[in-house]
Amino acid sequence: MSKIYDIAIIGAGPAGIATACEAVILGVEEVVLFEKSANHSDTIRKYFKDNKPVDKDWKGIEVTLQGNIDFDGGTKESTLNLFDDALEKYLIDAKFHTEVSSISKTNELFEIVTNTNETFSAKNMIVAIGKMGKPNKPDYKLPKSLSKVINFNILECKGNEKVLVVGGGDSAVEFAYYIYNDNSVTLNYRKETLTRPNPKNINNMMQKVDEGKITLKLGVDITSVEDAEGKVKVTYDDGSVHTYDRVIYGLGGSTPKEFLKNTNIVLDEKGNPLVDHTNLNAPGVYIAGDMAGHLGGSIASALNHGHIIINDILLNHCNLDDDLCRS
Ligand SMILES: Cc1cc2nc3c(=O)[nH]c(=O)nc-3n(C[C@H](O)[C@H](O)[C@H](O)COP(=O)(O)OP(=O)(O)OC[C@H]3O[C@@H](n4cnc5c(N)ncnc54)[C@H](O)[C@@H]3O)c2cc1C
Repeated sequence: MSKIYDIAIIGAGPAGIATACEAVILGVEEVVLFEKSANHSDTIRKYFKDNKPVDKDWKGIEVTLQGNIDFDGGTKESTLNLFDDALEKYLIDAKFHTEVSSISKTNELFEIVTNTNETFSAKNMIVAIGKMGKPNKPDYKLPKSLSKVINFNILECKGNEKVLVVGGGDSAVEFAYYIYNDNSVTLNYRKETLTRPNPKNINNMMQKVDEGKITLKLGVDITSVEDAEGKVKVTYDDGSVHTYDRVIYGLGGSTPKEFLKNTNIVLDEKGNPLVDHTNLNAPGVYIAGDMAGHLGGSIASALNHGHIIINDILLNHCNLDDDLCRS
C-alpha cells in the first residue's frame, strides 16, 4: 500500500512553504509539498524584478506575523533565500516539477493525481496554488502572432523599447517603475486616477512622471490590439492610436477555475473557494495564501495562513496520531 501523508500541500509559494514548515515544527511527520515548477516560489521568481524591494505590509496593509517564519520584507533575493533556508531547515519533502491535476476523496482519504502519473494519498489537503499561474487578460482579443511582445510580467523586457504597461494596481505601477530606466514607458489605466496602489509605489512612479520618464495615459480604455508588422498597434476609446514594441499587462490574477473543477473544493456563487476564519473549506480541505482571498493577498498573510491552518487541524479537526492532537 502506498504511503499515506498526514498533510499534503499543493503549491510551494509562501503559503505552501509556511504550511509545510509549521506542520513539521508542530510535530507532524508525514508532510509533502507539491510544486509544478522547477523550484519554489514561482510567482516571486516570475513577477518580481531582480532586487525588487519586498514590502512586508504590502499595499499598505499591516500584518502581524503569527507563525514561525520570520519575515520582515527585504528584496526578491532575500525573500527567496528565507524560503530556501526554511525548506532546508525543516527538511520539507518538496516534490518539484509535480503539478497536481486532480483531487478526490474516498474513505476519508484524499487522492492526489499529478502530471507525473503518480497518485498520492493524504489525510488533509492544503491548496495554496496562488492566482498568478493564470494572469488576468483583457476582454478584447490579443493576436497570437504577438505573443512574444505581449507579456504579463517584465521578464522579457529587453531595454530600448517603447513599452505600454496596462493596469491600475501595484503590479502595473511597479512594472512601469522598474523598466522606465531602459525603456520609453507609458502607463495606461482606464480610470482617471490611480487609487489602488500603495502610496510608496505611487510616489515612486509620480516622481518619474514629473521627470518626464514615464508617461501616463489615464481615463482611456483600449478597444483593440493589432499586429502591425510585429509591433503592437493599440487603439484607445478616445480615438488615439499608438504603436508599441511591447505591451505588458499588470492586471493581477484570478482563481484557477480549470483546476478547481477537478477537485471537491466548495465554491461560492462567483466560483471562488469558500473559506472560514481558519481557512477551512470542507472537512480536511484548507485554502491558503492568495487563493483564500478575493482581493490580492501578501506574503505575510500567506505565512499566517500556514500557522492558522496547522493549528486548526491539530486543535479542532485532528485526524492525525493521538499524541499530536490537542483537543
Ligand atoms: C508584481 C508583484 C509584486 C508583489 N510584491 C509584493 C510585495 O512587495 N510584498 C508582498 O507581501 N507581496 C507582494 N506581492 C504579492 C505576493 O507575491 C503574493 O501575495 C504571494 O506570492 C502569495 O503567495 P501564495 O503562496 O498564495 O501563492 P504564489 O506565490 O502564487 O505560489 C503558488 C505556487 O503554487 C504553484 N502551483 C500552482 N498550481 C499548481 C499545481 N496545480 N500543482 C503544483 N503547484 C502549483 C505555483 O507554481 C507557485 O509556486 C506581489 C505580487 C506581484 C504580482
